[in-house]
Amino acid sequence: MKAVHVDLGEKSYNIYIGEKCLADLPRLLTGVSPDSVSLLVSDELVFSLYGEEVLEILHSAGFKVEAAVIKGGEGCKNLTTLDWLYEQMITRGLDRSSTVFTLGGGVVGDLAGFAAASFMRGIGFIQIPTSLLAQVDSSVGGKTGVNLPLGKNLVGAFYQPGLVLADVSLLNTLAEKEYKTGLAEVIKYGVIWDGTFFDFLETNRERIKARDPKYLIHIVQRCCEIKAEIVSQDEKESGLRALLNLGHTFGHAFEALTGYKQFTHGEAVAIGMVCVARLAEKLGTMTAAEAGRVVDLIQNYGLPVHYGNLPADDIVVRMRMDKKSTAGKIKMVLPTGIGSSEVTAGITEEQIKSVLS
Ligand code: NAD
Repeated sequence: MKAVHVDLGEKSYNIYIGEKCLADLPRLLTGVSPDSVSLLVSDELVFSLYGEEVLEILHSAGFKVEAAVIKGGEGCKNLTTLDWLYEQMITRGLDRSSTVFTLGGGVVGDLAGFAAASFMRGIGFIQIPTSLLAQVDSSVGGKTGVNLPLGKNLVGAFYQPGLVLADVSLLNTLAEKEYKTGLAEVIKYGVIWDGTFFDFLETNRERIKARDPKYLIHIVQRCCEIKAEIVSQDEKESGLRALLNLGHTFGHAFEALTGYKQFTHGEAVAIGMVCVARLAEKLGTMTAAEAGRVVDLIQNYGLPVHYGNLPADDIVVRMRMDKKSTAGKIKMVLPTGIGSSEVTAGITEEQIKSVLS
């Protein structure tokens, strides 16, 4: 099993990555009290696949763990489900020494992570991410929270887990669309931070598409190393961490304008990365050949590269509403080659429209 250390002083923790490694969970747990009741939070689909197995592993090791299963999907990452979770925590007797285990994708991780952060002002929190997106991104770095009717992720907390256990063999049951959503975030790490990793993604496409565990372990490990490095320098996103938003300013606009129905988050980010690569080429921070490689890689992994027929004016209006824009000018992450990037302020609407044709 591989381990990636997230260095955050007293809040430091390890991410363990392996194949068929769920049974290793009890020996990795430190600070989880066997005397207090803990809660395993999962969604219906993931619990039906792996819930009983994880409960059995924890019970056999002497931990008192009960399950709370939510319906699943972005629609239940809200205050109503959070309220239900608090109720479960109280009626099942969780106390200040209890732990919340999450078993699921980013929805379960964000929601139950926020429940752990806020219940009795913070209890134990262990992440067992089961989607590719959760293993490479959402389970690492401590962002937790829920959506409000007025916007996504508007309520939340930075709350670091005690450990993350990513078992890549769980990814075998992930739907193809969800797997590709995770791959968009994987490609993002190559573009913003590591050209050698980008080369790896180009060279080993077929093995990665086939979900070969050896390649998946490398991917999850490298992405977690990069995220750990970024987060340990900028836990609360006052600078460097913003690089993880590559493609997201465009992506959020595509998602919002299509009512969050046409594209998964990863698909919208993939199209957003195509737009920023083309913008970087126009602004001279990336060569045409480099931008072409980004577009080709996205396309080769079966991700979309075009947003369809949304009007450019609507996209720009939506991007202006992004919290990173000021005085009509838009701030976003632009690649400065393959494997490096920077936050660029003052991008004009004309420049944006020039890549939306
Ligand atoms: P998700 O949790 O909805 O999971 C996607 C689907 O895959 C669900 O239907 C789920 O049941 C299913 N699934 C998960 N693991 C499975 C498995 N092993 N086998 C079969 N099916 C499985 O969505 P997601 O893409 O994992 O995460 C998206 C969420 O993550 C969003 O809410 C987003 O805001 C959040 N996010 C958070 C961060 C962060 O830093 N906290 C970063 C990125 C995204």
